[in-house]
Amino acid sequence: MILIIGAGISGISAAKNLKKDFLILEKEGYIGGLSTQYKSKQYFFDYGGHYFHFKDKPETKEYLEKFTDFKKYKRNSKVYVLDKYIPFPLQFHLSYLPSRIKNEILKEILNRTEKQSDNLCEFIEINFGKKLSELFFKPFLSKYYCFDLKKIISNMDKGSIPIPDKKSVIQGFNGKEFLEIGYNPNFYYPETSLKEFFNNYSKDIKNNIMLNEEILSIDINKKTVKTKNNVFQYKFLINSMPLKKILQIIKQKNNFPSHTKLSNTSTLVTNIVLKKKRKNFHWVYLPENKFPFYRVGFYPSKEIPVCYLEKTLINKIKHNKANLLKDTIITLKKLNLIENKNEILYFDTKVIPISYIIFDKNWKNVVPQTIEKLKKYGIFSIGRYGAWNYTSMSDDVKSAIITANTINSLY
Ligand SMILES: Cc1cc2nc3c(=O)[nH]c(=O)nc-3n(C[C@H](O)[C@H](O)[C@H](O)COP(=O)(O)OP(=O)(O)OC[C@H]3O[C@@H](n4cnc5c(N)ncnc54)[C@H](O)[C@@H]3O)c2cc1C
Repeated sequence: MILIIGAGISGISAAKNLKKDFLILEKEGYIGGLSTQYKSKQYFFDYGGHYFHFKDKPETKEYLEKFTDFKKYKRNSKVYVLDKYIPFPLQFHLSYLPSRIKNEILKEILNRTEKQSDNLCEFIEINFGKKLSELFFKPFLSKYYCFDLKKIISNMDKGSIPIPDKKSVIQGFNGKEFLEIGYNPNFYYPETSLKEFFNNYSKDIKNNIMLNEEILSIDINKKTVKTKNNVFQYKFLINSMPLKKILQIIKQKNNFPSHTKLSNTSTLVTNIVLKKKRKNFHWVYLPENKFPFYRVGFYPSKEIPVCYLEKTLINKIKHNKANLLKDTIITLKKLNLIENKNEILYFDTKVIPISYIIFDKNWKNVVPQTIEKLKKYGIFSIGRYGAWNYTSMSDDVKSAIITANTINSLY
């Protein structure tokens, strides 16, 4: 028997491609993990912006299109800085900045030298200069990670920080627009909803999913997992729960590094139903400290406008709802997304305890080795959180299928 931990997009994608008996154990009472929607009052909300990126993955798009029709969106995202909406990425669009600032930034970028960077802080200063780092990258990334940027290794963002060549910087300085840059210039979202997509996607394996079945411990020698009421035996285990958590519940502690070596952010998503949509964009990055949120966006394909605000939580789960509503109103007003608070029809919050992995120095020394070691015990740890990496839903689908095929070949 192959056991799968988690009925998110990774667990379901793996299951659908296995050729032998399997069972998915899911702790929640619903499927889809973070890639689905939750209901609050009469509204369905995503867990923050969740769009499919198929760049360089046409085969994954074709595979998922069997289960849903996707609508294609041309990304329209902005940076809001110095009281202005500027097209993303800012480093390509210097023409929008005041002369004194943009001249200084241009000079620094044109004088940059090709140097290796030791950490994220150095990486942004080497590539973008001090001025642009202070204006955008440092405040934005500090809000987003809430972690010392000098302790984060560079080059782990896989293209989400596009680096312009000097020619493009000059062209952008002179007013050219670069809207096709980055890993997500186009993105896709189901014509219906993420929830509908999951209903279709899981249709043929529904009977092999046990909901409300949280795995509490794993015995890697006996190859068993324990839930509140059951013990299950496995030959292979596919895990999509966060690596940090699986390290906590493996009984044989000495075999693996401590979970405390792994760092992550927690995100508070505030979902808002608005009376009307006053601006048209998909999302906006907010570097400045006058905004407690790092990003605001609108969900696609909604009849009523629903926006979300994302904020990194420092001390995990706790937040004060009344203060948050106050901050939300101030932010939406400053961004001209509402004129007064009566335009907010409904407000709901969701905490994502593990949202972004932090690539600190421990990551390098712990994660790849741990994933390989787990395989020696028949455990394949996959997905953004299982593999403790920075991946998208389509990356996760792709690697889940590869894992299923590997296991098929081992039987
Ligand atoms: C704020 C935010 C925005 C994002 N935006 C995008 C985006 O725009 N595009 C994109 O492609 N990706 C995006 N992502 C990433 C995306 O959410 C992940 O790539 C994807 O959800 C990973 O799917 P998964 O199945 O691996 O993990 P999950 O969705 O986390 O599913 C894991 C499942 O395991 C279950 N589980 C956990 N512990 C146990 C246990 N002990 N026992 C049983 N079951 C358990 C969970 O309940 C869950 O259902 C975003 C992530 C965040 C946090």
